[in-house]
Amino acid sequence: MKKIITIGEIVVEIMAVEPGHGFTTAIPLVGPFASGAPAIFIDQVAKLGQPCGIVSAVGNDDFGVLNVERLARDGADVSAIGVHPTAATGSAFVRYRPDGNRDFIYNIRHSACSAIGLTPEAEKLIDGANHLHIMGSALFFDGIVSAIFEATSRIKAKGGTVSFDPNIRKEMLELPGMRAALSHALENTDLFMPSGAEIFLFTEAMEEKLAVAELLARGIKVVVIKRGADGASYFDAAGEVFVPAFEVDEIDPTGAGDSFGAAFVTCWLRGMESRKALTIANATGARAVGVKGPMEGTSTMAEIETFLHNQGGAA
Ligand code: ADP
Repeated sequence: MKKIITIGEIVVEIMAVEPGHGFTTAIPLVGPFASGAPAIFIDQVAKLGQPCGIVSAVGNDDFGVLNVERLARDGADVSAIGVHPTAATGSAFVRYRPDGNRDFIYNIRHSACSAIGLTPEAEKLIDGANHLHIMGSALFFDGIVSAIFEATSRIKAKGGTVSFDPNIRKEMLELPGMRAALSHALENTDLFMPSGAEIFLFTEAMEEKLAVAELLARGIKVVVIKRGADGASYFDAAGEVFVPAFEVDEIDPTGAGDSFGAAFVTCWLRGMESRKALTIANATGARAVGVKGPMEGTSTMAEIETFLHNQGGAA
C-alpha cells in the first residue's frame, strides 16, 4: 500500500462551550482537543488503515503528549514529530458566534511547530513515502515551506504523487513569500482540492468551469472542489462528476475539509472510481461535522460503511 505523508502544524484546540463573541470575560471552555489541519488529515488517513506519517514538532508538554499519543494510537507514523526543548505546543482558542462564524485566538506562530524542518527522522519518513499532501496552512512557516519543497522533489523524482489543499485564510495571502509558495505547490500538484471559491485565488478565470480547465491545462490531473453542505465535484480531462452531501446536523465544521481530503486522497491512491471515492469522502466529511472537536469526528472504514448503510446505500 502507498504511504501518505504530510508536513505541518500540530496544535491543540480549546473551545468555548456556548456560542458568543470572543474571550474578554471568563467563560466555560472544553478541550484540549488534538488539532491542526495536517494532523487532522493524517489522523483520518491512519484511521482508514493506510500507511501514513507526519513531519511536525510539538513542545515538551502535555499538549504534545496528547497529540502524539492520539496519532500513534490511530496508526500514524509519529517518528518524525520532533519535541522542541523550549517552545510550547501550538494552541488555538475557538468560539462560535451566534451566526456560525468563529472567533479565534492563535498561539501557533512562535510555537514548537515553527521549528519544523528536515531532521534525519523527517528525511527517513519522506524517503519512504509515495505521496505528499500539502496543506496551505502549513506554508505559513518558512522552515516547513523548505521541507515541503524538498519532499515534493524527492517524492516526484521517484514517481510519487502530490495533493494540495490550499486551506488558506485571506490574511495569509499577504504574507511575504506566500503567493510564491502557493504557486510552487500548485506547479507540482497532481490532485488539487480547493473549497468553493478558493479556486479563483489560483486562476485568471472568473467562472468555475473555465478555472478548472485552466488548471487541467497547466498539468494538474484531477481537481476536486469541496462544496460544504452541497457536496463535492471531481474534474479530470473526461469532465465533471458531482456527488451531493449527506444531510446531517452540523455541530462543528472544523476538520470536515481535512477529513474529506484524507478520505479522498486515500481512495484515489487505492485506484477507486471517482464517484465512489467522492461518496466515501462526503460521508467522512458529514461524520466530521456531526461531532464537536476538530479531530473527534474522524472515521474508520467500518464506521463509514455503517453510515452509508444507514443513509440507504453503499458507496
Ligand atoms: P473546508 O472545511 O475545507 O472548507 P467543506 O466545508 O467544503 O471543506 O467540507 C468538506 C466536505 O465535508 C464537503 O465537501 C462535504 O462532503 C462535507 N460537509 C461539510 N459540511 C457539511 C454539512 N453541513 N453537511 C454535510 N456534509 C458536509
